[in-house]
Amino acid sequence: MSKLQEPLEDRIHLFAHGGAEGALLKILDDDPHSLNDLLDDDHKLDQDRTLPFSYTCCYLRHRDRHVMIDGGIDGDEVTAQLAILDVVPEDVDLVLITHVDRDHVAGLILQVGDGELTYPNARYAIDAGLWAALQEDATYEELPKHLQRLFKALTARIADRVIPCDGETEVAEGIVFVPCPGHRPGHAAYELASVAGADGALGDTPILHVGDAFMHPVFMEHPDWPMIGDSLPDQAVESRKQLLGRIERTNPLLIATHFPWPGIGPAHCSSIR
Ligand SMILES: [Zn+2]
Repeated sequence: MSKLQEPLEDRIHLFAHGGAEGALLKILDDDPHSLNDLLDDDHKLDQDRTLPFSYTCCYLRHRDRHVMIDGGIDGDEVTAQLAILDVVPEDVDLVLITHVDRDHVAGLILQVGDGELTYPNARYAIDAGLWAALQEDATYEELPKHLQRLFKALTARIADRVIPCDGETEVAEGIVFVPCPGHRPGHAAYELASVAGADGALGDTPILHVGDAFMHPVFMEHPDWPMIGDSLPDQAVESRKQLLGRIERTNPLLIATHFPWPGIGPAHCSSIR
């Protein structure tokens, strides 16, 4: 991929790992938060810390695939960033959905014209239970109208190209859907295996994208602390513990959507900060 000049480095972070190349794309400006806003009353810090909450989606060239992990908020903006990397939307053949919050999937639908898919040639991996729920009217009852429209449009558009994942599933060669429900029902992480080098040796650890299972590194140190905003707190704690076990075993390069920019680093537990 092309080398970036400043100030693009503030919005696009290039990386290479295990034979894959990728880019974190900043989809919104950093949003300073109080860490205490994420912690319940039993765990609030005496001395609060401000944390730079970032918003990203991820592009990866993995084996011969062009992969997006989530799609950001604005598809036009994300594809403009991809163009800088010489990637056109039609190239993308696989979209990995962590969950269907607006900041993760609104950019999968273009806001102009009839709301076509941003990545028209892709297949879309998503949790099977979540996919089933998206077919039910009851799922949308509590949502504001604009979100109902968004999620219904997305569901209709990807229906003939969806990969519903029931439990841990290899969605493409070397790319594994890892269920970790709790932040939202059907929330998922994705693990991308290292690619064999020219000598055939598997040179590296995998890449693990954890979506919003961890909204801040403090939850890697304290996976059992309730995280304000999780829809299913008990399941979220269980999922964080399972992910940490996986991280201990595989020592991946970790990516987390909302960690301080660019939100990527070696994840020997809490070293990414
Ligand atoms: Zn999010």
